[in-house]
Amino acid sequence: MSAKHLIVGIFALLVCMHSGIPGADNYRVQRMNMISDIQDDVRRTERFINKKSFNAAVMQAMEKVPRHEFVPTELLSRAYENRPLPIGFGQTISQPYIVGLMTDLLHPRADQSVLEIGTGSGYQAAILSQLVARVYSIEIIEQLGNATTKLLSRLGYDNIKTHIADGYNGWPEHAPYDSIIVTAAISHIPPPLVQQLKKGGRMVIPVGTRFQTQYLTMVEKDLQGKVTTRQVLPVIFVPFTGGH
Ligand code: SAH
Repeated sequence: MSAKHLIVGIFALLVCMHSGIPGADNYRVQRMNMISDIQDDVRRTERFINKKSFNAAVMQAMEKVPRHEFVPTELLSRAYENRPLPIGFGQTISQPYIVGLMTDLLHPRADQSVLEIGTGSGYQAAILSQLVARVYSIEIIEQLGNATTKLLSRLGYDNIKTHIADGYNGWPEHAPYDSIIVTAAISHIPPPLVQQLKKGGRMVIPVGTRFQTQYLTMVEKDLQGKVTTRQVLPVIFVPFTGGH
């Protein structure tokens, strides 16, 4: 490399470091601030969630996944706030603390398959993809689902398979699942999803409507197939739609 090329190269690097170009490492600082905000929320909600911190692997996934890639361009500067943000179509990308909590509640392991209902921005799927073998994710809004499928493939998340459909009936083709995550609020737990959960499996789902308190609910199917539920935390999610 000539001295001229070297100087041009160094100049380009400096420009990059000073701009907000995605991929430039300046998002790392913001991501670490987000991690510390999540930890503050974990401490604040300790009496609900019964723990002082999320699993280290879950936090590592959140340190790694570039949330700024999953928000609309006009909200780039807010990508690492510990808040939900609008993603168009009346939908939202969930609050980072809630994404961490739901992921932690599933006890993800490297050999597992997970079903997600409500792909949305793809952020939750991307977090899960770092922790399990396969993520299957269903979105009901075709345009949103297609855009997110393209994004996930551009970012190289190749263990996530997406599908456009009403998620009420799950995705029988790949069932049973080690765990299921529902990211839209519904008045009841859809029986097809319980059916597609493995024995020993876990499902996390916001139960309630727009007009009631919604509770993030933990559903566990034991090794005999007996199902128990418990309310974890009051939450606010966008509604589960479709014809159920
Ligand atoms: N997991 C998403 C959260 C998106 S908000 C993220 O990380 O960004 C919830 C999503 O659920 C919305 O995109 C909404 O369109 C979708 N949804 C609502 N009802 C659905 C249904 N019946 N089947 C599949 N997706 C549904």
